[in-house]
Amino acid sequence: MVSYKELGLVNTREMFKKAVAGGYAIPAFNFNNMEQLQAIIMAAAETKSPVILQVSKGARNYANATLLRYMAEGAVAYAKELGWEHPQICLHLDHGDSFELCKNCVDMGFSSVMIDASALPYEENIALSKKVADYAHQYDVTVEAELGVLAGVEDEVSAEESHYTRPEEVIDFATRTGCDSLAISVGTSHGAYKFKPEQCTRDPKTGKLVPPPLAFDVLHEIEKKLPGFPIVLHGSSSVPQEYVDMCNKYGGNLPNAIGIPEEQLREAAKSAVCKINIDSDSRLAMTGAIRKHLAENPSHFDPRQYLKPAREEMKKMYIHKIVNVLGSDGKAE
Ligand SMILES: [Zn+2]
Repeated sequence: MVSYKELGLVNTREMFKKAVAGGYAIPAFNFNNMEQLQAIIMAAAETKSPVILQVSKGARNYANATLLRYMAEGAVAYAKELGWEHPQICLHLDHGDSFELCKNCVDMGFSSVMIDASALPYEENIALSKKVADYAHQYDVTVEAELGVLAGVEDEVSAEESHYTRPEEVIDFATRTGCDSLAISVGTSHGAYKFKPEQCTRDPKTGKLVPPPLAFDVLHEIEKKLPGFPIVLHGSSSVPQEYVDMCNKYGGNLPNAIGIPEEQLREAAKSAVCKINIDSDSRLAMTGAIRKHLAENPSHFDPRQYLKPAREEMKKMYIHKIVNVLGSDGKAE
């Protein structure tokens, strides 16, 4: 058993309290490898933004759970080395699907875990989420639970049918589970293909696909039921066209990739939404930059030659999100 406090990490409680009061949101960026982690920490240190490092079950399987945990510990030391005196870094399990997985993360030094039992019937979701919250709270680890179902595919999480969170359930759910934050479904979606072209309209000027708007009415209903309670948006990549184009121009094949427009995320960040999850945008930035570099430099074979520009592109993207979309810059001096 190792406590996250020994690792220099923080849980989400203070971060969220300040974010809700201040009308901004904390970035939750997923990572699977060193370059992503470096880019996240460089961006957070440079902008002095609190940050949530998200690790999914798939990331733990890919990179090794022990190694990832030590990487997060190293990230705190690295942030200080970059001149960030008091880094506010949270290590969070994304989409925990069992009590055992959540417990394992708490025991390994995570400062926050998500239990996603949203696919289970309502009462079973409450029972499992409460079990995780009861365990995690003994160690002052914060817990995110989910109500409502998001569409799309993300690592091992996928759902064909989505349904919005029902505002009439949120008070009962939050009270009985004891969760610290609530992931809701209001029209965001996992992955780089969030909407089918037939769900979208076309901008008459540019001819580009415009996705259906987020259900702000549902979000505001939820806020009214749970004033000041931290709300989380999953599946909130905006799938920047420049990265999709970069992938496609240099040999990729990502037709009709589509995300959530940044103006809508900006609006959400001003509400009780205090954590916005972004994963696909980092994947697209990295892949686009690698494809471009290798296409332009066919003789290169040292991974550092193509991973360096990929890391720079991700850092640029993370800084853009922090400063221009979430508004979390300067909130962790
Ligand atoms: Zn998610």
